Amino acid sequence: MKLNLNIQPLSSWIKTGSEPLLIAGPCSAETEDQLVATAHLLAKTGKVSALRAGIWKPRTRPGEFEGIGSIGLEWLKRAKEETGLPTTVEVATGKHVEEALKAGVDILWVGARSTVNPFTVQEIADALKGVDIPVMVKNPVNPDLSLWIGALERINNAGITKLAAIHRGFSSYEKSPFRNEPMWDIAINLKTLAPELPLINDPSHISGNRDLIGYISQKALDLDMQGLMIESHIDPSVAWTDAKQQVTPAALAEIITHLTLRKPEIRNAELKDKLAELRTQIDKIDDLVIQKMAERMQIVEQIGNYKKANNVTILQVNRWDEILRKGVNYGKALKLSAEFTEKLLELIHAESIRKQTEIMNKSEAGQAAEKLTHA
Ligand code: PEP
Ligand code: MN
Repeated sequence: MKLNLNIQPLSSWIKTGSEPLLIAGPCSAETEDQLVATAHLLAKTGKVSALRAGIWKPRTRPGEFEGIGSIGLEWLKRAKEETGLPTTVEVATGKHVEEALKAGVDILWVGARSTVNPFTVQEIADALKGVDIPVMVKNPVNPDLSLWIGALERINNAGITKLAAIHRGFSSYEKSPFRNEPMWDIAINLKTLAPELPLINDPSHISGNRDLIGYISQKALDLDMQGLMIESHIDPSVAWTDAKQQVTPAALAEIITHLTLRKPEIRNAELKDKLAELRTQIDKIDDLVIQKMAERMQIVEQIGNYKKANNVTILQVNRWDEILRKGVNYGKALKLSAEFTEKLLELIHAESIRKQTEIMNKSEAGQAAEKLTHA
């Protein structure tokens, strides 16, 4: 089911062009000079549509730099006056919203640590009632699509229609080259549920490391995300926050120049035909896969009835290990990754167990009634 959001296009509130939309600026505003000088260099690249800077910083541990506070809003104002770049800051309380609005900030964003908390999001939404300002909502720290959607809905219900989502990756316990696991499928799910909602990628917070920013940015554009938010600092080596992931404005321009912007729609007729033909083939195969799954589940049901009649447990671990091992080896021989085959088999197996559990727990009377209705 699609989400019921009332959204205005991105181009109604930020400059979009033929290059990828880019919002850039330091993780934190540290000093007036640092912010204004960074803004000038960013503006000079000609690639930046808005200047970002954290004024109130939600740090994981107390004692880390928690943001310069309201004075930073004055610096942002100056940066905007001198460069013409619209500005954006993170807001985490109703008071932040009030102050940012008063200082003429152009765009607000809700950070990952706020999106996780519906109380916080509602407080921000309440402060936004009756105000016409664009708001970007970062995904929550944890991989929970509903929380992300909930936050977008709360802000939208407050009357904010210039709305975008920012994909900044998710906390994960597993070791990974990324600071925050991208978990692209969650962002894709959001895009599927709300195709009109602009989706901006934040490769800086996904990567946690400047060397990966180009790679993540390209991947985001290839998934048809509409823009990028990238942290840029005049001298990242001395940045007070997120030093490892920030890039100089010059390095940022270099990254952007190397990105390829692929079109979601194909204009070339021949290519279009070829793609349509290949898609038809895929659709046919998908139909077959579903049909085969249905056949498999019918047999699973028969097995379930048989196990019930003979008092046999649903799960027989040895048999499942055997299916998995054989399947993964077969998949490998056919050039499917072991991870993919394992996930696929686990999904099928989980559904089979669910079906058999249903059968085991159904009373005799219920089963007889069902037989009658199907007769
Ligand atoms: C930030 O943008 O500097 C920030 C704190 O990001 P996030 O909320 O994604 O952690
Ligand atoms: Mn940061």
